Amino acid sequence: MSKSETIKVTVWNEFVHEQEHDAVKKIYPDGMHTVIADALNQNDDIVARTATLQEPEHGLTEEVLAQTDVLTWWGHAAHDKVDDEVVARVQKRVLEGMGLICLHSAHFSKIFRRMLGTNCSLKWREVAEKERLWNLEPGHPITQGIGQYIELPNTEMYGERFDIPTPDKLIFVSWFEGGEVFRSGCCWERGHGRIFYFRPGHETYPIFHNAEVIKVITNAVRWAKPRVQITDVCPNSKPLETISPKDVDFGSAGIEQSSDTVG
Ligand code: ZN
Repeated sequence: MSKSETIKVTVWNEFVHEQEHDAVKKIYPDGMHTVIADALNQNDDIVARTATLQEPEHGLTEEVLAQTDVLTWWGHAAHDKVDDEVVARVQKRVLEGMGLICLHSAHFSKIFRRMLGTNCSLKWREVAEKERLWNLEPGHPITQGIGQYIELPNTEMYGERFDIPTPDKLIFVSWFEGGEVFRSGCCWERGHGRIFYFRPGHETYPIFHNAEVIKVITNAVRWAKPRVQITDVCPNSKPLETISPKDVDFGSAGIEQSSDTVG
C-alpha cells in the first residue's frame, strides 16, 4: 500500500479514568486509546497514532491535525477541560473534510455538540445489562463483516430520547435488557467531513477488546476518510457569462420601476 493511500488516524482519549480507577486500569493498563490504535494498526491501509488531554494542546496541534485523515474521540470526565481553541481547530478540519468518529460518552464532548448543534443528552443507567445493537444497513460500508446484530453481555445503558439532529443515515439501533432503545450508530456530514457516532465504549467493561466493536470502528475509519480537503473561503465572484447592464432604478422589492408604476 502506497503512503498516499494510507489512512492516517489520530485516536484521542481524555485518559482520566484509566489513571484514576483500578477497575478501569485493569481493563486498559495503557489507556483505551492504545488498545484502539493497536487494533487499527493491524490493518495495512491504516496508520494510527494517539493523543491525550494531558499533552500540550491535547496532542492536537495544527501539525498533527494537518496529518490526520480521521480523528476518533473518547471523553467522559473531562469534557470541560478541553480547550475551546483546540475544539475550534478540530471543527475547522472536519468542515474541510477530515473524518470524526465519536465514541460512547463523547456524545457530551465539546466537539460533538459543536458539530451537531444540539444538546446531545440521553438517558443512562449502569447495571451491567445486555445490549443488542441491530444492524439496520447491511449494505453500508460501516457494517461490512457484521451480522444481523452485535451482542454485548454487559454494558451501560443509553436510552432515547437522544437529543441529536436526525442522522443522515442510521446504522445501528440498540435494545437494552431493561427495555430502552437507542440510536447507537449514526452518520452525518458537516461541511466536507463525515461524522460517525458509535455508542459502545463504557470504561468499566472491556468493550474495545470486542472484535466486532473494533470491526465497526475500523470500517468507520475507512468510510470517514476525506474525499476532498477544501479550506473555506467566501469570495466575491465574477460572472461566467456577460450580464446585460441594468442601469435603472429598482423599487423596494428589487423590481424595475416602469413609467406606469413610478410616481
Ligand atoms: Zn459510560
